[in-house]
Amino acid sequence: MDERKDFSRASEGAEIRLALVGIGKIARDQHLPAIAADPRYRLVATASRNDSVDGVPGYRNIDELLVGGLPLDAVSLCTPPEGRADIARRAIDAGLHVMLEKPPGVTADEVRALARHAAAKGVTLFASWHSREAAAVDTARDWLSGRAVTGGRIIWKEDIRQWHPGQEWILERAGMGVFDPAINALSILTRILPARFEVEAATLDIPSNRSAAIAAACTLRSAEGYTIKADLDFLFAGAPRWDIEVATDAGRLILRDGGATVELPGAAPHSGENCEYPRLYGRFHALIEAAEIEADTAPLELVEQAYRLGARRSVPPFEF
Ligand code: NAP
Repeated sequence: MDERKDFSRASEGAEIRLALVGIGKIARDQHLPAIAADPRYRLVATASRNDSVDGVPGYRNIDELLVGGLPLDAVSLCTPPEGRADIARRAIDAGLHVMLEKPPGVTADEVRALARHAAAKGVTLFASWHSREAAAVDTARDWLSGRAVTGGRIIWKEDIRQWHPGQEWILERAGMGVFDPAINALSILTRILPARFEVEAATLDIPSNRSAAIAAACTLRSAEGYTIKADLDFLFAGAPRWDIEVATDAGRLILRDGGATVELPGAAPHSGENCEYPRLYGRFHALIEAAEIEADTAPLELVEQAYRLGARRSVPPFEF
């Protein structure tokens, strides 16, 4: 099969025939509405072991989807991170463009290998980071550009039972625990600041019956020398806190609500409309048209470092 033909077809403005894999919370909350609202896409199939979408052909898994014979251009993967690279590889082998939910895989190495594989096959791989598309992130990046940063902090606290009800996989090692939501903060941080970060120290609170952290404290050090402290909590009842503060020579910038609201020195808070997933699908379309790959692993590398370096504390068992 000549994959380049697929690129040219897409660039001629043809509709992208898309299959959604892993029909769970994020697929229903965000992907299905974003796809339905975007005339550049047509949802032609789903692949999920226990769920499907009314009126759309449903397959149980990627293999059944691929042998099903439906004409298809791309897949968007909404399964948990473990096993996602294997699904992506099968789709790439079949000549399909692939969009990955965050985190794009279990390890950065696995994602880099996927990117090389997609390049070799001539298809697009898009490792999406939805929080980078939050309404105030570009404003924050622009404001910080050229300013001297002196430090900062991340406060990422939410109630696992409210936001991830019954998702046992999230507290397995590959689910990353509290870093599943907190990687969103790291994706924003690595978008708004040009510095390269490393984890200097971390403390991981791991329930005695689980493998991943339910809370964590991390210190990130930038190549320029300043630190960002991160306070992460998955047992935070009440209104979530998804905040990033950056101190600069021109005052303090605060991003709240997961990047939807920005507070700049001397100005009233500014919020924008939430268009994260429509923007992601727009970006995926642009990458397909340009025959490009986008697979930034910087946020995932920080999570890997935190688990590699972090001091582990056993905390009481957790049940949903
Ligand atoms: P979820 O509700 O558990 O849905 C994932 C779906 O994937 C499941 O319903 C399941 O459908 C399928 N699946 C395939 N293999 C699985 C396995 N080994 N274990 C469990 N499910 C499996 O999870 P989600 O919240 O949608 O999250 C999926 C991805 O989206 C994660 O990477 C997460 O970080 C990301 N995300 C989540 C949110 C959020 O707020 N929840 C926000 C943004 C991004 P079948 O049983 O039908 O196969």
